[in-house]
Amino acid sequence: MFFGHRVQHHLTRGPVKGGLRFHPSVDLGEIAALAMWMNWKCALMDLPFGGGKGGINCDPRGMSHHELERLTRRFTMEMMPFIGPDVDVMAPDMGANEQVMAWITDTYSVHTGHLVPGIVTGKPLNLQGASGRTRATGQGVGFLASNALHQLGMSVDGSTAVIQGFGNVGSNAALTLHSYGVKITGVSDVNGAIWNEGGLDMEALMKHVGNTGTVVGFSGAEEMAPAGLLIQKCDILAPCALDSVINKSNAADLKCKVLAEGANGPTTPEADVILDDRGDVLIIPDVVCNAGGVTVSYFEWVQNMQRFLWSEREVITRLVTMLQKSFGQITAYAKHHKLSNRMAALALAISTVASAKQ
Ligand code: NAD
Repeated sequence: MFFGHRVQHHLTRGPVKGGLRFHPSVDLGEIAALAMWMNWKCALMDLPFGGGKGGINCDPRGMSHHELERLTRRFTMEMMPFIGPDVDVMAPDMGANEQVMAWITDTYSVHTGHLVPGIVTGKPLNLQGASGRTRATGQGVGFLASNALHQLGMSVDGSTAVIQGFGNVGSNAALTLHSYGVKITGVSDVNGAIWNEGGLDMEALMKHVGNTGTVVGFSGAEEMAPAGLLIQKCDILAPCALDSVINKSNAADLKCKVLAEGANGPTTPEADVILDDRGDVLIIPDVVCNAGGVTVSYFEWVQNMQRFLWSEREVITRLVTMLQKSFGQITAYAKHHKLSNRMAALALAISTVASAKQ
C-alpha cells in the first residue's frame, strides 16, 4: 500500500497547476508547502493558474515499469473527482516523467471516452506534449544564471558552474550553461559527486550517464565528497536536487557569486539570513529560477485547449522573454524596497494573488 497526496492551494486565478512527485520522503506537509510555492510561482510568472502539488510516497527506483504503471493509473483513478483540464493539471516532478504523464492521460481519457490532452502537461510529443518542455526548467535555470552574471557585470563565457543533481533540471541547466561557454567544474547525483577544475566534457559525461545511470565513475573527472561540492569556488552554484541543502551548516562557506535555485526550497530560512548578511551572493529564488517548467507547461496546456501546435523556437523565445521580465521585476522591486530577491519575489506574488482574491 502506498500513500499519495494532492494539494490544491487555491483556484481563484484558474485551475491549479503543479507536479506529481514519486519519492520515499513524500508527506502531506511537504506537498502542501510545494503547492503553495506553485501558487506564488504561477502568480509571479502571470500564468492563469493557482498552485497544486501531488506526491506518492514510494521509491520508483526499486519498482518495475509495470508496478509504476499500476501505481500511477490507480492514483489517477482515485484523483478523478478532483482533477480536470479546468480544475487541476499535473506535471512531472521528482521521480516522475513523461511516461507517467502518458499513463495519467490515458487513464483519464479512457474514463472520459475521448482524448483529453489538457489533463496533464509534460506529456510525450506524440501525445501532444510541448516541444521543449522536458528541457524547459533546466534551460530557464541556465538562462537566468547567465542573466545574473550580466547583472554583476561578469562575462558568461569562461565563467564556472557547479550543479547539484543531474536529473531533468540539473543536466539541462548544465547543458544550457555549457552552450553559453560556461565551464561546468562539478556535478553530483544521489550516488556521489565529480569534479574537474578544467571543466567537464559534457558530451562524454552525458554518454556516461546514458550508459550507467550515474555521474559517478566518469573517467574525465575525480570523485569528491558530495557535501564538499557545494562549497567549491565557482561563479554559479545551482542546487537542482533536493530541498534544504543550503543550510546553516554550509551557508557561510559558499564560494559562489550566483546561487541559482533550480530545486524547490534548496535554501533554508536560517541560511537565507546568513547569505543576506554576507550580501555577496546574488540569489535567484526558486519561485522564478525553476519557473521555466511551469511556464512551458502553461504553453502546452494552451496548445492542448486550442488544439494548436507551436514550434520549439516559439516556445523557447516566449519562455526566455517571460523569465527575463519576471526576474527584472523582482530585482527592480528588491532594489526599490531594499529587500532580498526572495522577499521581493514573494511580495510581488502574494500581492497578485491577494488582489485576485479581493
Ligand atoms: P529528477 O528526478 O529528474 O532528478 C533529481 C536528481 O537529483 C537526480 O540526478 C538524483 O540522483 C539527484 N539527487 C537525489 N538526491 C541527491 C542528493 N542527496 N545529492 C545530490 N543529488 C541528488 O528530478 P528533477 O525533475 O530534476 O527535479 C529536481 C528538483 O527540481 C526538485 O526539487 C523539483 O521539485 C524541482 N523542479 C523540477 C521541475 C521540472 O520541470 N522537472 C520544475 C520545477 C522544479
